Amino acid sequence: MNETIYEASQLISGGDLFKSLAPPARLCVFGDPVAHSKSPIFQNAALHASGLEMQYVKIHTRSEELTPALQSLPAAGFIGANITIPHKPAALAIVDEADDYARKAGAVNTIVVEGEKLIGFNTDGPGLVRALREEFYVDLRDLRVLLLGAGGGAGRAIAVQCAFESCERLVLVNRTFEKAKALAQELSSYFRSDRLVGPAERLEAIPLEERALREQLSKSDLVINATSLGMRRIDPPLIPAGLLTANLMVYDTVYAGGKSRLIEQAEAAGARATNGLSMLLHQGALSFEIWFGRAAPLEVMRAALKSAS
Ligand code: NAP
Repeated sequence: MNETIYEASQLISGGDLFKSLAPPARLCVFGDPVAHSKSPIFQNAALHASGLEMQYVKIHTRSEELTPALQSLPAAGFIGANITIPHKPAALAIVDEADDYARKAGAVNTIVVEGEKLIGFNTDGPGLVRALREEFYVDLRDLRVLLLGAGGGAGRAIAVQCAFESCERLVLVNRTFEKAKALAQELSSYFRSDRLVGPAERLEAIPLEERALREQLSKSDLVINATSLGMRRIDPPLIPAGLLTANLMVYDTVYAGGKSRLIEQAEAAGARATNGLSMLLHQGALSFEIWFGRAAPLEVMRAALKSAS
């Protein structure tokens, strides 16, 4: 596999290099940093298995390079791209059009090149929906969700997905409480319905504090971690030990470093728990579907991701 990390300047200065690769690079991921991205591993496996004569490459892109880099995609022969940290919100402002979900999520992770135009999508939330079905055999819309990290980019994308799905309940939790509160206000219209789930409000924002968490966890089915905590073994615990119970499902969107402390806590409590690799896989499969208008070879992609994890 081509492990090269290209620079945005190589795209901005004409992009002939990408056309001259064998097979030509016609898909890429933009990020800063980008070296960690696992997308080329499973997207290239998918392209190969589908008989598509092109490759997917990593392009290291600084913030000030994002606009010219994206605008260079059509001339350089690219058919699409993924966007990763920290450029997803900025990409929304650059694309010519974006779908409803990407606009509301405030971020684009998938771009389709249509002639000279760039069309933006976001597959993070829909990817999580598929991951939850696969991991826990449940539908997001049927669940009472407690979302940790509702102030971050991933948290916002997941909260908007919960709103679009009209899930039974959504509790937004964030270290900086004001951000969770502001998001709850923004999403309130999605949860104003006759749907009754007992005395509890369908949408609440709470601070990341033991008492509030304990109370809300007793009214939740699914806990999602969308904070960046848990990526490193030295990270402190996100929630105090002893709060998780056996009836819960715990989805940790973090996927680096094997089992996070949150997953260990959940398993110790007898709860079902899993990390974010399945979300990563499904958001990638959805990008493939958007680019090619056909089902992604999911098992090929899964095997490639597994071999690299
Ligand atoms: P981000 O925008 O920087 O947001 C970080 C979030 O984490 C914020 O809510 C922040 O709270 C919170 N946080 C950071 N340090 C904390 C701490 N010490 N204690 C409590 N909360 C803390 O990051 P992001 O882009 O949303 O990414 C977040 C995570 O989602 C990453 O781990 C990433 O790997 C994961 N992710 C996974 C997938 C997947 O496919 N599996 C896709 C996207 C993202 P404040 O608002 O208070 O700062």
